[in-house]
Amino acid sequence: MGRVYNFSAGPAVLPEEVLKEAAAEMLDYNGTGMSVMEMSHRSKAYEEIIQTAEQDLRDLMNIPDNYKVLFLQGGASQQFAMIPMNLMKNKKAAYIVTGQWAKKAYQEAKIYGDAVEVASSADKTFSYIPDCSDLDIPEDADYVYICENNTIYGTKFWQLPNTKGKTLVADVSSCFLSEPVDVTKYGVIYGGVQKNVGPAGVVICIIREDLITEDTLPGTPTMLKYKVHADNGSMYNTPPAYGIYICGKVFKWLKKQGGLAAMKEYNEKKAKILYDFLDQSKLFKGTVVKKDRSLMNVPFVTGSEELDAKFVKEAKAAGFENLKGHRTVGGMRASIYNAMPIEGVEKLVEFMKKFEAENA
Ligand SMILES: *Cc1c(COP(=O)(O)O)cnc(C)c1O
Repeated sequence: MGRVYNFSAGPAVLPEEVLKEAAAEMLDYNGTGMSVMEMSHRSKAYEEIIQTAEQDLRDLMNIPDNYKVLFLQGGASQQFAMIPMNLMKNKKAAYIVTGQWAKKAYQEAKIYGDAVEVASSADKTFSYIPDCSDLDIPEDADYVYICENNTIYGTKFWQLPNTKGKTLVADVSSCFLSEPVDVTKYGVIYGGVQKNVGPAGVVICIIREDLITEDTLPGTPTMLKYKVHADNGSMYNTPPAYGIYICGKVFKWLKKQGGLAAMKEYNEKKAKILYDFLDQSKLFKGTVVKKDRSLMNVPFVTGSEELDAKFVKEAKAAGFENLKGHRTVGGMRASIYNAMPIEGVEKLVEFMKKFEAENA
């Protein structure tokens, strides 16, 4: 069997070119006679891999010099704790709860201090982004937290919240490198890479230098201190070496595609094909308020659980994998990350048209 169109929310599709390159280098990386998996992270060859990866990411995102780039482990979920442990100097933070990942981060922060929910879209099953232009943000809040693209519900902050001068912390796991960003608007941008950048096991954390201090909450483990990782160039201990190598290849691939502005254009084009179809379909409909739609995760339903299940099953048989919606939401979800080719979306829509005609 050949490659399928993989609409998984994560771990997710990677550029075929990257996978082929990695395969070609599997037994002998660049004349070293070994795989990147087998080499010392202190070796010259590896040093070059991680440094090149960081530089390429800096180029892509235009990351200012006063921000550190950290390659960490523990998944995005570990950041839910690491952020309050390192940033909650006043033991207070404002959370905007727009989905399950934001909610988990909010609940985790409550273990460490006074996490305040300043806005939420739970009242309508997280199908929209609340108005964040004038929130009641506590005077002494250390930061304002958002999940910028809500992987499960398919919403995206197209406008960042007014933090009233407080540091903005954003989980960008599922929109990482999908469009240009102005890094200076954030204190911390982080994401697990398995959604849009690389294999699971790597978390990238871009953090403004003044937020990296010795002053962490009492009891913070060494491995959960940003300063320890920053002072050691992400090499305090063995980093997720192979994963970082693949991320580096994805960065090169993104540069070759024309960078993040080109990626955004491509992603808009892809998403439009699917949304345009959903907007005129008599069977399928999108579940998200139009202005808040994500370009990366597109949830939709037929209105009948039976038909949803039938669709997912028939789509799978036709080579469209992982279209089942998140277990907490039901319906369908097509994740169309950077590496999903436009043909994948075009063919999916063709298939949906056929299914609609057959099940009218
Ligand atoms: C998948 C996801 C997470 C959780 O990532 P893990 O690496 O599994 O901990 C957190 N936030 C967002 C936005 C996600 O999409």
